[in-house]
Amino acid sequence: MQVAKRVESLPPYLFVEISRKIAAKRAEGIDVISFGIGDPDLPTPPHILDALHTASNDPANHQYPESEGLPELRQAIATWMDARFGLNFDPETEILPLIGAKEGIAHIALCFIDPGDVALVPDPGYPVYEIGTMFAGGESHFVPLSEENGWLPDLSAIPLEVADRAKMIWLNYPNNPTGAVAPASFFDEVVAFARKHEIVVCHDNAYCDVAYDGYVPPAFLQAQGAREVGLEFFSFSKTFNMTGWRIAWAAGNAELINAFMRVKSNIDSGIPQAIQRMAIAALEGDQGVIATNNAQLQDRRDRVVAALEKIGLRVPTPKASLYVWARVPEGRSSAEFAADLLEQQAVVVTPGRGYGEAGEGYIRLSLTVPDAQLEEGVRRIGEFTGA
Ligand SMILES: *Cc1c(COP(=O)(O)O)cnc(C)c1O
Repeated sequence: MQVAKRVESLPPYLFVEISRKIAAKRAEGIDVISFGIGDPDLPTPPHILDALHTASNDPANHQYPESEGLPELRQAIATWMDARFGLNFDPETEILPLIGAKEGIAHIALCFIDPGDVALVPDPGYPVYEIGTMFAGGESHFVPLSEENGWLPDLSAIPLEVADRAKMIWLNYPNNPTGAVAPASFFDEVVAFARKHEIVVCHDNAYCDVAYDGYVPPAFLQAQGAREVGLEFFSFSKTFNMTGWRIAWAAGNAELINAFMRVKSNIDSGIPQAIQRMAIAALEGDQGVIATNNAQLQDRRDRVVAALEKIGLRVPTPKASLYVWARVPEGRSSAEFAADLLEQQAVVVTPGRGYGEAGEGYIRLSLTVPDAQLEEGVRRIGEFTGA
């Protein structure tokens, strides 16, 4: 059997390797504490689970869903976006529910990328932007993010011929893995750039409601003219602790959403309807759960930052996202630092290099560690003498 080149050329999924290392240590009887994976440990709120229980008893939910999602869900999303961002969307033509943002991110390239086309992809970044591009037959041109630029891409440094060939640009603020946020003025720059080069902007806003110290992340689509050039991805996963349920949405102008809908209706049959009912309950229910979550995460953030500072790492305090992004000491790679920390203290962090070349020199710590474990993890980091 010969697998296709697109399969052969796949890099190992970063977390598969980390999971393997953790499993090996645990098999030796070592109590490993992992700051590796960004998957909320806090439970899905009860009122959202209740909606699932109720919906599971309705035979209407036992059959194929429509690809475009329940009208009630699209309406609830439109209402929520108006309240949250002051944006009005037509729920029928400008909102498309997804089976998780990851699913949509992987498939959207099929709408805009033909073989040989270029997508502009941030480095470091969420790996799916590149892989989705590759699956569609396109090429990724990596746009480096750097600490000096606040982990925002320098759009003016993108070579003109690359910008002119590019069909899509990926952005993600609040950012994974760096925890950086973008000022609204940056989105204005992006709109101008996209107009000039006729590029579709895809903004991944999976962390729009995971924020601290009173910071409220903006939407790309709030920028003047953004709706003509791009679309935006939102997810229930991080906002409502719903990673296990797989539901998200894209919003944007009718033409873009229509292309996306046509592609997706040929691939999947939508989101299980009982889960769509959970999403409606999340959007229409008490939004106080978001602030409660964030307060707990903020407390964890402060403890993790303090522990890293204690061992001499340079680490900014993130205003948003689930991640602390720290510079490792000179003279060692991020993978070596992570390996030493695992060896000496049985603490897992992710090497920044796993998110791209420009991530070298940094490590990422996720705040999705239960409080008791986090306390122990922070203590161990504080004792790490290899820093
Ligand atoms: C977690 C994450 C997602 C995936 O969200 P799902 O809706 O759970 O698929 C998308 N983008 C980024 C940057 C993420 O960190």
